Amino acid sequence: MTGSRFVCEIDGSHSHGVFRVPGCRASLRSGAIDAGAEPVLDRVAPALLRVDACGGYAQPALARAVPTIRDMVAETGTATVALRDSHHFSALWPDLEPFTDAGLVALTVVSGGPTVTVRGASRNVFGTNPIAFGFPLAGARPVILDLATSTMSNGDLRIASNEGRKVPVGTSLGRDGRDTDDPAEILAHGGALPFGGHKGMALSLMVEVLASALTGGAFSHEMDFAAHPDNQTPKTGQFLLVVDPARGGNAGFAERAAGVDRLPSDRRYRHRDAAAERGIPVTDGIRALFA
Ligand code: NDP
Repeated sequence: MTGSRFVCEIDGSHSHGVFRVPGCRASLRSGAIDAGAEPVLDRVAPALLRVDACGGYAQPALARAVPTIRDMVAETGTATVALRDSHHFSALWPDLEPFTDAGLVALTVVSGGPTVTVRGASRNVFGTNPIAFGFPLAGARPVILDLATSTMSNGDLRIASNEGRKVPVGTSLGRDGRDTDDPAEILAHGGALPFGGHKGMALSLMVEVLASALTGGAFSHEMDFAAHPDNQTPKTGQFLLVVDPARGGNAGFAERAAGVDRLPSDRRYRHRDAAAERGIPVTDGIRALFA
């Protein structure tokens, strides 16, 4: 699991990078996650795969499913994957790279942890519910856009809190649903707001339906951190759709998005290239975590 933290750090996905290693360790020690779980795959239809992570992490369960998913796409042109009883703790783009690197189009969404609020709500119901979508591009590395449906990810709030930084008023709410710029208060008593008001909330609802209702995974509001106080990794469900664009009838698919100046992934790839030459910069914040 620590390896996944370094993968994120290499790409500059700091909100899910090495600063989370101590939390990951605490989650494993809390007993909330079964690190030795053996995922179970069940191909219930030619293009539909159920994956039961059996209380473990989502990442090894998905890794085990990748060869089956590739077979399904080769046979049918598409694969829908319903992943349940899992814990997700990372950025989503690494989940899609095995498919986008193979020239496929892929979409994934994950629910988890009631950390998002809306004005006037009596309690948090949704998580930061991320959406990632990837596709191949002619003459370039694949594009993967990957975003929380909240104004800020929980990781960015935690980093701001650790570093004693304020966050912009209007991005989150604190105690009693009041505006605040204090990330510690937001994390303890409130939550981030959905991005784009009701539109972000609507997308977050879509994530809950796809990732939890459709898969049998945990809804964000079902997460009970009190059961394992040291656990920092929410129980989740995950939905994944993989499509072979060559079967879609447009031979020029990979050329269509070329020519845009700043694509999602560009920043990550810049970080990846720099890390390949110079390694990961060890900041004072990272050094303090392992002191
Ligand atoms: P960001 O707001 O940093 O970025 C969102 C997307 O927009 C990225 O694909 C980014 O590409 C792209 N982007 C940013 N700026 C531009 C621009 N100017 N032009 C074009 N594209 C742009 O992401 P979030 O803070 O919302 O999410 C961060 C991470 O947190 C995600 O990886 C997400 O999966 C993860 N997360 C995980 C959760 C979990 O439960 N496991 C929960 C919530 C979030 P680029 O990276 O190249 O900048």
